[in-house]
Amino acid sequence: MDDPKRMLSVDAAREQILSRISTLGEERVPLRNALDSVLAEDIVATEDNPPFANSAMDGFALRSEDVSGASPERPVRLNIVETIPAGYVPTRPLTPGTAARIMTGAMIPEGADAVVMVERTRVEGDVVLIAEPARRNQHVRPAGESVQAGEKVLRRGQRVRPAEMAMLAALNVAEPLVFRRPRVALISTGDELTDLGEPLAKGKIRDSNRYGLYGQILEAGGEPLDWGIARDNPDAMESLLRKGLADADALVTSGGVSVGGYDVVKDVLLKLGELHFWRVSMKPGKPLAFGEALGKPVFALPGNPVSSLVVFELFVRPALRKMAGHTDLFRPMRRATLAEAVEPDLSGRTTYARVVVTEQDGRLTAHLAGPQGSGVLRSLVLANGLAIIEPAGVPAGSEVDVILTDLR
Ligand code: AMP
Ligand code: MG
Repeated sequence: MDDPKRMLSVDAAREQILSRISTLGEERVPLRNALDSVLAEDIVATEDNPPFANSAMDGFALRSEDVSGASPERPVRLNIVETIPAGYVPTRPLTPGTAARIMTGAMIPEGADAVVMVERTRVEGDVVLIAEPARRNQHVRPAGESVQAGEKVLRRGQRVRPAEMAMLAALNVAEPLVFRRPRVALISTGDELTDLGEPLAKGKIRDSNRYGLYGQILEAGGEPLDWGIARDNPDAMESLLRKGLADADALVTSGGVSVGGYDVVKDVLLKLGELHFWRVSMKPGKPLAFGEALGKPVFALPGNPVSSLVVFELFVRPALRKMAGHTDLFRPMRRATLAEAVEPDLSGRTTYARVVVTEQDGRLTAHLAGPQGSGVLRSLVLANGLAIIEPAGVPAGSEVDVILTDLR
């Protein structure tokens, strides 16, 4: 059994990884491709938004002083001088006693200082009847109501969500400067692995890790480069890396990092760079190798189906986010009541238990999502969180920290 004192804690391993990872360079991307990227420039508005005072309603633009005495008994009659659709410039400044029919988004004509919505008016030929006073600036959206020219609207380091995409468009930024997203090469290792669609021969299994990890790379904001399955053959693996790594910003492998006789990944990586092999004090997923090959960071994950995805979640996801310029690297963590007991771990490791988290009246409850073996993918599918259980175990009803891996 491993001596727990010789194992690294999750936090320590994560710190070591993050201290060696740097943010990638900057590039301009078409706005459509900027979702979930991190801005590498401050955005200063060069124009007001909206660019001119416009109507918030379909109705009539008028001079508020003209209708200050209006009432249902004594409506004010104003002459309609023109109709202003959105996108057109008014041609007639309003003089006392006149109004312009105006559409939502159309320019407020000179002289007008209020809009009365059409539902509150009656039209008789060329005359509109107004039966109530209008506040100054009523239903008028002033120029620069949202953003004024010269204002710093978005900042370097800010994540681009759909709202930021709309704002960048409003400010005419067609190609924002963002931090580059990592291109992440992905390999499964193992002679037992069979890709989808091929018949499953005796003794072989499906390669599930590569698909789960592919999704995780995408979800973390990276661009996966699927390099398929590498057999347990050091020479083939080495030539694969020599051929491809120049195009990638990082490499993720799964399998082949334990202490078995066929664990080629460690040896190949040692040959091509520097490798830190750790037994991290966690369950699932003890073996984790991190290092550099041909100058690129390498994450060599364990092979067990649950371990590989959980180790990615804890170590690789924050690293990829850092590469992409994010400053909030980690998932939200909350306290929750664990419904079931968890036995002590005799090897002294911290358990990251797959749990189903539910919320009621602001309090979270976590149920174990099923058997916790490192090959039981089913319980990872059911789970939406990872409960952190100290090696001593906990009785049912304990408060524990839960990483919320899926907020849906
Ligand atoms: P290893 O670390 O290579 O000894 O693998 C540990 C366990 O994970 C073994 O049972 C492997 O068959 C399994 N395994 C390794 N890679 C994959 C994969 N890509 N998909 C599913 N299971 C895997
Ligand atoms: Mg293997």
